[in-house]
Amino acid sequence: MPIITLSPDGTLALPEEIRDSLSLRPGDLLSVEAVDGSLRISLHTPKEKAEKPMIRKPQDLQHPAELATPIRVIKGVGPRLSDILSKKGMCTVEDALYVLPHRYEDRRELQRIAALRPGSSAAFFASVESAQEMTTKGGRRYFEAIVKDETGSLTLKWFHFHPAFMKKNWLPGRRGIFIGEVSQFGYQREMHHPEVEWAGEGEELAEVMARDPENFGRILPVYPLTEGVTQKVMRKVMRQVVRDYARFVPDLLPAEIVERQALLPLPRALKESHDPDPATARLAELNEGRGAAHRSLAFDEFFFLQLGLALKKRGIALEEGISFQVTHRYTKELTKLLPFSLTGAQRRVLTEIKEDMMTPHPMHRLVQGDVGCGKTLVALMAALIAVENDYQVAIMAPTELLAEQHYLNIRGYCDTLGVTTALLTGSIKGKSDTLGKIASGETQIVVGTHAVIQEKVEFRRLGLGVIDEQHRFGVVQRALLKRKGINPDILVMTATPIPRTLSMTVFGDLSLSVIDELPPGRTPIETKVARESRRKQVYGVVREEVSQGRQAYIIYPLVEETEKSDLKAAVQMAEELSTKIFPDLRVGVLHGRMAAAEKEAVMKAFKAGESDILVATTVIEVGIDVPNVTVMVVEHAERFGLSQLHQLRGRVGRGSARSRCILMTGDRVSEDSLRRLEVMEQSNDGFVIAEADLEIRGPGDFFGTRQAGIPELKVADLLRDAGVLEEARTEAFALVEDDPHFRAPGHDTLRRELIRRWGGRLELASIA
Ligand code: ADP
Ligand code: MG
Repeated sequence: MPIITLSPDGTLALPEEIRDSLSLRPGDLLSVEAVDGSLRISLHTPKEKAEKPMIRKPQDLQHPAELATPIRVIKGVGPRLSDILSKKGMCTVEDALYVLPHRYEDRRELQRIAALRPGSSAAFFASVESAQEMTTKGGRRYFEAIVKDETGSLTLKWFHFHPAFMKKNWLPGRRGIFIGEVSQFGYQREMHHPEVEWAGEGEELAEVMARDPENFGRILPVYPLTEGVTQKVMRKVMRQVVRDYARFVPDLLPAEIVERQALLPLPRALKESHDPDPATARLAELNEGRGAAHRSLAFDEFFFLQLGLALKKRGIALEEGISFQVTHRYTKELTKLLPFSLTGAQRRVLTEIKEDMMTPHPMHRLVQGDVGCGKTLVALMAALIAVENDYQVAIMAPTELLAEQHYLNIRGYCDTLGVTTALLTGSIKGKSDTLGKIASGETQIVVGTHAVIQEKVEFRRLGLGVIDEQHRFGVVQRALLKRKGINPDILVMTATPIPRTLSMTVFGDLSLSVIDELPPGRTPIETKVARESRRKQVYGVVREEVSQGRQAYIIYPLVEETEKSDLKAAVQMAEELSTKIFPDLRVGVLHGRMAAAEKEAVMKAFKAGESDILVATTVIEVGIDVPNVTVMVVEHAERFGLSQLHQLRGRVGRGSARSRCILMTGDRVSEDSLRRLEVMEQSNDGFVIAEADLEIRGPGDFFGTRQAGIPELKVADLLRDAGVLEEARTEAFALVEDDPHFRAPGHDTLRRELIRRWGGRLELASIA
């Protein structure tokens, strides 16, 4: 088998694999010597290369090398600029290609002075009416010119200038194009330090514009900037990058999809995004990201993300799992024990879960449902199916308090059914006994915190893992729980309604069930925003409810449970309430820093009606269930996200009595915050609130600081491009369905590209 061939022109040609595995580049030196009857070829690495070995992974081979060109190669990019750009993530020309303008400036035609709007940059053609040096009242010298066109006049000002130079150039009657930021001072619009392109004697405007085709007669991109880089520099760099490198970006999507979705080739989409065609482009479309170019780029990005998720999902579906039998032994019993019947939505979701559990593949299902819709019960039903099949179940909750709550809820029913349960949290005593019973299989259902996935916990036969309030656990925890058994079924539950765009990306590899119905007999919670000045009345409401035998929560924000000053404020508040405001009532305090036993005691006492008011931090956010509470006051409501407020609010209105939620804000809270809080007054629907929250805070903050797993997107925007996401998802999932092994021509490239882009981030290492 020949390895090296001698070409007719006398050069030695190495096979591609060898060139690539050695990362050979034109100009590299190879020496050949004979050793024991064979040839030894060695590479003389140039110095620069020795310092920075270019190690390419095999899957990178097909990606065009041109795109890896370092940004410093671009003309005008010196070490300083290359440093700045690299820090912004623009290390290669490919990185740069995907830094898109965030808006555009229309320079196809110049503006008229009358139409100039303050706060925007503008270019207009005018003639100088007057120009002179002036002095401010404070004695500062500046240069002022008045310019006018047929629609009006504008004042130009310079605060740093060269007097002789200005006098010589700014002559009345001289015409030119003026470019700058329009600002408003009182009633007067001004432009400071404008740029100018003078017209020659008798020269037409069209001729002046034609002299500088880079800046006139086209649509200019406006890039997001970092310190030390001007728009002008950025445009210059990008113009070269787009001109010289956009054409190397490969189009990998299958032709049918490109056609069906009417996508532009990527090089063209990139060119159009950076430098729109002045003949056809529409400014509004560009600025709102609605054009074909943006859509094509967003589609490409979403498509590969969804392809990854589709493969991940398929991978799970192909794994061998447990095939449960539904015997109804315990589930029927439980239905009889319940003082109510299941809602239609609960029954539907339960059917979906049962079907998953019966297949011989592991279940990976997300159950979404608004607060109070009865997810816990659905989880318990699923758990009992596993127990009927002689498997163990682990139910994992994000906080000790919530784990305890679940445990107490479940234990009652399980004891009656003769199913054994245990609580496993960090602060449980006598743990070795508990651990022993889990390992022997004596305990059938384990409820706990992340303590459940610790190494020392061993199950005899784990068949089902339930993760409650998923967004506090990452993908890693999901994987760890899975490893406690042999491919157990996984059921994830979340009470945070997740906007569809987010669930399609963050949980895109899970099957989705939605409980979209509340148990009957719930009265909607009445929500009111109240300013500080109404505090007296608010306390009046609390007092009134308590006098009727009801109970109240007063919630204090505690952003992180480690923030001492906040904690002090919450504790102080409880102190003040119990001594000064409600000295005659019984006030309890609950916060995350308390020992578990203490917390439990407080909760128990409150549930038993031994205290009237519970001052608490957000530890009560999830899962706490005391139906007798009819009023909740949230202090500093503006400090919470809407979804979080919705969670909190779900702690009241759990009985049939009318319930109220009062959101307190400071007197000086901003209009924006107020409008945000008004969403809470208007809606009780978790999905509506979640959408509003997402819109206000953006995808990154939606889940709060602890969220991991929202993939970083370069071009696409989850909010604006939701429709594109949906289409890309449909196409990607259909592709994997039709060709799960990527055998069709061209699909192999897709797989490679997928690994290149998302392999590490989506944990796709194992896809084959
Ligand atoms: P979630 O976890 O979804 O917020 P829970 O499972 O804690 O809701 O249920 C809230 C309350 O509603 C509990 O007191 C539960 O017993 C009750 N509940 C659950 N399902 C029903 C139903 N079908 N009919 C009436 N009440 C129900
Ligand atoms: Mg719950």
